[in-house]
Amino acid sequence: MKEISCKLLVIGAGPGGYVCAIRAGQLGIDTVIVEAGRPGGTCLNVGCIPSKALIHAAEEFEKVSHMAGGKGPLGISVAPPSLDLAKAVAWKDGIVSRLTNGVAGLLKKAKVKTVQGWATFRDGKTVEVETETGTQVIRAETVVIATGSAPVELPFLPFGAPVISSTEALALSEVPRRLAVVGGGYIGLELGIAFAKLGAAVTVVEALPRVLAQYDAELTRPVVKRLAELGIEVITGAKAKGLSSKGDALLVETSDGKTAKIAADKILVTVGRKPLTEGFGLEQIDLDRSGKFIRIDDQCRTSMCGVFAIGDVTGEPMLAHRAMAQGEMVAEIVAGHKRSWDKRSIPAICFTDPELVTAGLSPEEAKALGEIKIGQFPFAANGRAMTKLGEEGFVRVVARADNHLVLGIQAVGQGVSELSAAFGLALEMGARLEDIAGTVHAHPTQGEAFQEAALKALGHALHI
Ligand SMILES: Cc1cc2nc3c(=O)[nH]c(=O)nc-3n(C[C@H](O)[C@H](O)[C@H](O)COP(=O)(O)OP(=O)(O)OC[C@H]3O[C@@H](n4cnc5c(N)ncnc54)[C@H](O)[C@@H]3O)c2cc1C
Repeated sequence: MKEISCKLLVIGAGPGGYVCAIRAGQLGIDTVIVEAGRPGGTCLNVGCIPSKALIHAAEEFEKVSHMAGGKGPLGISVAPPSLDLAKAVAWKDGIVSRLTNGVAGLLKKAKVKTVQGWATFRDGKTVEVETETGTQVIRAETVVIATGSAPVELPFLPFGAPVISSTEALALSEVPRRLAVVGGGYIGLELGIAFAKLGAAVTVVEALPRVLAQYDAELTRPVVKRLAELGIEVITGAKAKGLSSKGDALLVETSDGKTAKIAADKILVTVGRKPLTEGFGLEQIDLDRSGKFIRIDDQCRTSMCGVFAIGDVTGEPMLAHRAMAQGEMVAEIVAGHKRSWDKRSIPAICFTDPELVTAGLSPEEAKALGEIKIGQFPFAANGRAMTKLGEEGFVRVVARADNHLVLGIQAVGQGVSELSAAFGLALEMGARLEDIAGTVHAHPTQGEAFQEAALKALGHALHI
């Protein structure tokens, strides 16, 4: 049995783990990272990046399809397009390879040793890794658990054709004729919309009364409207029950207690993700839990001295940029820097059509803290949005009524994901309404709607 020792051992090379290891390497810490799959984790391999590639391909296809026959106001007419999904998936795989190879290169450049294989805890300072060349024992002064998460499987709809998770949905070589999506959260809707644009007849089944239920109804209204325009059937208040005996339909209990049969070639189950806390001997070190997640403090320390945890395994929001920020912070703490988690904002984006962004507190959350001011500006009054056929949606700013400190910002509209940086910055810098209103925003841009929303909250919007 081979043995190595290091100062820092990171388990899992997703966005949390690889960022932690790169930063630790930059800081001169002797670091080893263990990864069972490919570097980049869920995000680069089967999550953020491949889903956005598929969404882009679907958007382009839908745009051209819409123009076919001279439809649309732009005066462009093209022949009806055809689609080679296998080619689009190969393009997406190329992007994933470039990025995962890039991460491997960055780890090497930072002098991080990568061990390929599945790590299992022996104790809080020692893991065993099953590698291709035998068992490798790694002893470390400090361990970071960055094992991420996995899709939740429904016991009555186990994964296996025709029931698929987002991972298989991103690797299909043909567009399913009929796709049933179980779960109307962001992953289900992002993929459901993409497949509808690629030509599938999509039905979304959601147990709650609304899709994207964690966001307020006003914010999700433009998305719900677009789902209908795309011909996506949404059945809310309905529970998936299982597969039909022939395996060609999803059985659903509707809100009136009746059983409905939704004919489907593929059934995509996107009912959430669970932290990966099993199968690697975590029970050996018996860390405190917060529900199903590993409990951490504001420095990502677990209940065991010298063991940190970051990313999806530690709680919501399960997002790549949260994992990365935690990873960078932990590397600096291990290097002796004074750091703690004092972020005001972790923006969240749904890459639906239209896109949806939230940063900081929602109006409801802010109201619970005291009196607030809200300013909302519609893209229908924004010149740039009009030139992009993107008049649906708005930017909304929520601030304290007394001192105008901005507490939260939300937007829904075409391409608003790119506004998330401005929203996050405003919250992190402790901006007041006057700061946003007093910043000269370039014209014509969708960002002007952000400035106008702040002006509106102050009572003197200019363009509405
Ligand atoms: C379809 C989809 C779309 C998404 N879109 C977005 C998005 O647009 N934006 C966003 O911010 N987030 C998105 N996410 C979520 C994002 O992917 C995760 O939040 C992020 O990957 C979490 O990073 P992590 O480092 O905590 O874990 P992961 O990325 O899950 O990485 C964990 C790694 O640890 C490895 N591992 C686990 N256990 C062991 C072990 N015992 N030994 C060795 N290796 C191990 C795994 O193989 C994996 O590579 C999406 C997710 C999905 C599924």
